[in-house]
Amino acid sequence: MNLILLGYPGSGKGTQASVLSEKFSLFHISTGDIFREAISAKTALGQEVSGYLSAGRLVPDKLVLDVIKTRLATETRGLLFDGFPRTVDQARELDDYFASRSQGIDAVIFLDVDEEAVVARLGSRRTCPKCQKIYNLLTSPPVKEGLCDACGEKLILREDDKPEVIRRRILVYKDQTEPLVAYYKGMGNFCMVKGGKDPESVTQEIAAVLKIKNV
Ligand code: AMP
Repeated sequence: MNLILLGYPGSGKGTQASVLSEKFSLFHISTGDIFREAISAKTALGQEVSGYLSAGRLVPDKLVLDVIKTRLATETRGLLFDGFPRTVDQARELDDYFASRSQGIDAVIFLDVDEEAVVARLGSRRTCPKCQKIYNLLTSPPVKEGLCDACGEKLILREDDKPEVIRRRILVYKDQTEPLVAYYKGMGNFCMVKGGKDPESVTQEIAAVLKIKNV
């Protein structure tokens, strides 16, 4: 099974991807996490992408695709994409990649959340820089204030979750990523799920939709 999670930044893709990848034994591939790890490890890739992330702009397609192809080269499990593709060109390349392996995308799950809800969620999101676990101070805070439940690391407000960058990311999403909704709707494997509720009920709804679609 190969799945794509699509939606605004802050729509809950990362949270759902972690749970679903475990539930269905999929390989969770988050380009945002890959870039953030590269930045904190100060690798050449990290240096190349850090300016794009801190400004809330997209990393150029070629660089993103090189990273994806390297990651997928040895992977045999089903794939769960979170934050990729983000442009129609990336989606076309992904289609070509699957076609060359006689595979396809079983479902594209669009997490439908209002723009204003997303802005509020991103501002109260805290992230573990070590294991990437995601919290929300309002709806799913850590047990111990400021510390990751899973690994004890100090939680951070991501550079690009600061108010001025959030607005830019929303604009970038509307301009470059939203066209993917029409792209995938035309392919028949598109499913819309209402996001913005508690994470467990969103997971249940996604699982139900996948079952109905026989994925
Ligand atoms: P995310 O964690 O998915 O919100 O991604 C954080 C940032 O990483 C984005 O704002 C972009 O700067 C960059 N990024 C992640 N995935 C992609 C992608 N597929 N294409 C271009 N840039 C990306």
